[in-house]
Amino acid sequence: MLATAKSGGCASPSCGLSAKTDDMDPAIWEKIKDHPCYSEEAHHYFARMHVAVAPACNIQCNYCNRKYDCANESRPGVVSERLTPDQALRKVIAVANEVPQLSVLGIAGPGDACYDWKKTKATFERVAREIPDIKLCISTNGLALPDHVGELADMNVDHVTITINMIDPEVGAKIYPWIFYDHRRYTGVEAARILHQRQMLGLEMLTARGILTKINSVMIPTVNDEHLIEVNRWVKERGAFLHNVMPLISDPAHGTYFGLTGQRGPKPVELKALQDSLGGGAKLMRHCRQCRADAVGLLGEDRGQEFTLDKLPGEVIYDAGKREAYREVVACERGDHVAAKSQAVAIVKAADSGKSLLVAVATKGGGRVNEHFGHSKEFQVYEASPRGISFIGHRKVEQYCLGGRGADATLDGVIAALERIDIVLCAKIGDCPKDRLAEAGIRATDVYGYDYIETAISALYAAEFGVEPMAATA
Ligand code: SF4
Ligand code: SF4
Repeated sequence: MLATAKSGGCASPSCGLSAKTDDMDPAIWEKIKDHPCYSEEAHHYFARMHVAVAPACNIQCNYCNRKYDCANESRPGVVSERLTPDQALRKVIAVANEVPQLSVLGIAGPGDACYDWKKTKATFERVAREIPDIKLCISTNGLALPDHVGELADMNVDHVTITINMIDPEVGAKIYPWIFYDHRRYTGVEAARILHQRQMLGLEMLTARGILTKINSVMIPTVNDEHLIEVNRWVKERGAFLHNVMPLISDPAHGTYFGLTGQRGPKPVELKALQDSLGGGAKLMRHCRQCRADAVGLLGEDRGQEFTLDKLPGEVIYDAGKREAYREVVACERGDHVAAKSQAVAIVKAADSGKSLLVAVATKGGGRVNEHFGHSKEFQVYEASPRGISFIGHRKVEQYCLGGRGADATLDGVIAALERIDIVLCAKIGDCPKDRLAEAGIRATDVYGYDYIETAISALYAAEFGVEPMAATA
């Protein structure tokens, strides 16, 4: 439940307000409002889970090694156990009974949900029968997608992610060594050309049926980084709802082609520069956490290890009670949050300082500054500037404080991850980490603990640049 959630009735004057923008089609808002990946605002409140039921894949990407399995590893394609559709159903019910934030079930590797279609379909049919209000979502490389768009629409799957890394087969040949299509294997430029054609066809078919499509692109420096500007234009023209540019994760220990050949991933500053340059194209997703293929929980947390098969009860019966109660609380909380956010943005804009602040926030959900510095496994990064307050990404860190004690080496890593951040906001911070951050030129404060993130940032911004916090709303 939300850190601030109260049981019983809601006294909020703004209960029922939504974060829907004035120009958004209500039907689209209905589809995205509880989806943590399609709505940045929803990701503070709602959780997803992935089930790894479809392990077969019809292409090879140079950044993927599906054999790799490490419970501490968080990246797409990585999974601890594969499930049958019946096991997946048991797991989804067990999670839904324990994680009230759950709103989305995704099939996102390892393998391709459209290629391993029978298992994908069997899983969705079983889950939709038991938990009709859960959103169903797939992620695919697109090669087999056109064969299943009709069935996806029939199953009410309104969210599909296609990974599109190129529109030029010459670029594609550097990313995909082979594909398996129409009973034969293709390599090189020919393989990439077929993949490209199928991806575009699949995207156009989804758009024609009103299915919201998110495009994931892996940013690979010197291979497709500049090319992604062109990809963004193409997918926007074909109706993509969101474009999610993710950094290549490359490490020799992962055993991928790119990892073993020393291909580096982009630095955060390079990723941000590319994302900023895509401002005019398809709407950008900046809050992706590159989740494991068996992730469970809010984005940024992974409770998958609590729900491995050996920990599931033999029989599970779905109890809708917790999820329904949570949704009632969230409906009120979200209304308050939207009102607070709009006031905070007005304050920052009115300050008219011409300056910007990069703020890292320790949060465990609910849109509030509500995590201790030492307990954070990631910080959400916001930019406050004359344009307003924008979420611009996150920085993953190793948890610094374990069992009440912090390790110096871990703190060094946290400080390095916070490079270029001006101020850290958290619910609590001790003198030692605060002093160490200050030595690195990063300020930290817990005076805004439990405030809404935007409210805290606006107060900070106003204090920083000498504006009275409430003056802007007068
Ligand atoms: S499509 Fe997905 S599962 Fe298949 S090789 Fe690429 S990343 Fe791996
Ligand atoms: S990988 Fe990104 S898009 Fe997929 S579930 Fe995680 S946050 Fe959402």
